[in-house]
Amino acid sequence: MHPLKQKIRDEIEGRRDDLIALTQDLVRMPTLNPPGHGYLEICEYLERRLKKSGFETELIRALDTPGDSQKYPRWNIVARREGITGGECVHFNSHIDVVEVGNDWSFDPFGGELRDGKIYGRGTCDMKGGLAASIIAAEVFIALVPDYAGAIEISGTADEETGGFGGVAYLAEKGYFTPEKVQHVIIPEPLNKDRICLGHRGVWWAEIETKGHIAHGSMPFLGDCAVRHMGAVVHEMEESLFPALAKRTTSMPVVPAGARQSTMNLNSFHGGLEEPEEGFTGFPAAIVPDSCRMIIDRRYLIEEKPDQVRQEVVDLLEKVKSERPKFDYKLNEMWQVAPTMTQKDAPVVTRVAQAIEDVLGVEPSYVVSPGTYDQKHIDRIGKMKNCIAYGPGILDLAHQPDEYVGVDDMVQSAQVMALTLFDLLEKTD
Ligand SMILES: [Zn+2]
Repeated sequence: MHPLKQKIRDEIEGRRDDLIALTQDLVRMPTLNPPGHGYLEICEYLERRLKKSGFETELIRALDTPGDSQKYPRWNIVARREGITGGECVHFNSHIDVVEVGNDWSFDPFGGELRDGKIYGRGTCDMKGGLAASIIAAEVFIALVPDYAGAIEISGTADEETGGFGGVAYLAEKGYFTPEKVQHVIIPEPLNKDRICLGHRGVWWAEIETKGHIAHGSMPFLGDCAVRHMGAVVHEMEESLFPALAKRTTSMPVVPAGARQSTMNLNSFHGGLEEPEEGFTGFPAAIVPDSCRMIIDRRYLIEEKPDQVRQEVVDLLEKVKSERPKFDYKLNEMWQVAPTMTQKDAPVVTRVAQAIEDVLGVEPSYVVSPGTYDQKHIDRIGKMKNCIAYGPGILDLAHQPDEYVGVDDMVQSAQVMALTLFDLLEKTD
């Protein structure tokens, strides 16, 4: 191993306390999304921190994106530090938002408590631990290899948990992620320190509405019940669509293995009267519902085409229509994201793989995420194919009560990130 690589590893180990303190600082800022709380505060914190290592920083508000308002502005930070000569740019992208806390915590969700080598709190694992690890990796690399070629970028972006439109999507549209500007992207999502995540499955969300005719509930034959029509749709899904999806397999190494097929979730179902307000003690009115709406969340594979995903739902609805008197429906497509998978021989993949071997002494495993993350925007809008997710933390802990990140895991993945910087940016001439 290059002697500087060992020095980099030792220096990161020596900054363990700094890494812990940085993670705790980030966790103690409750950047809950929704609604998108405290984005400016965390961006300003990151700006102060990164300027100390010579980064040029830019705070960018994603004006007029979904959720952006005076009260909850969508702030992002992009920091860039140039080397002494031209070369490639390595970009670490972390989302700064965290999901709601939920119940059943035995720790203060925003306390950042350190116990037995783990830091607890909402967002420790997903993904402030990864953000902190990438910052320490960059700081140590800059301190020990100040004459590197190319550039390092670190971004903290908004709204990943709600689609990323006020974060990476906005920045990609503004030209922050293009193959000319950025050559390698690492997203430190919690995929475990020895795994490289190449991409994710696709998503198609749609709302199906069945129509009926309102009438008195005591004379349902005078109306037409939209909920029963929707029942027929669900029945047909159980009979034909779900079994067909379960049979579709993929070359994508999706984890967990249960997601290595097409899946569909029936996300919500609303028909008839609205839910009464809490505390209302009266009875519902006797009404035949004239509308029923269902939201479906279809996750699809790289082997499937989005048109086919849509068409098989249309075909199913048309089949029910042909068999069922008075059946009528509306299909409202909400959003869709194509599956993405970076090639295993892409430069960022091979360099991170080598760094994992150097630090952990094991060959990495290659995985694909069941759900999407910001790679979708970097691929689709930025046209950047050389992108992976790699970071500390156990994926299953994301969004759970008593979420934590292990300090050893953070130290080791910071070492992997720093050695990757060394391989990509060290000036060899
Ligand atoms: Zn995340």
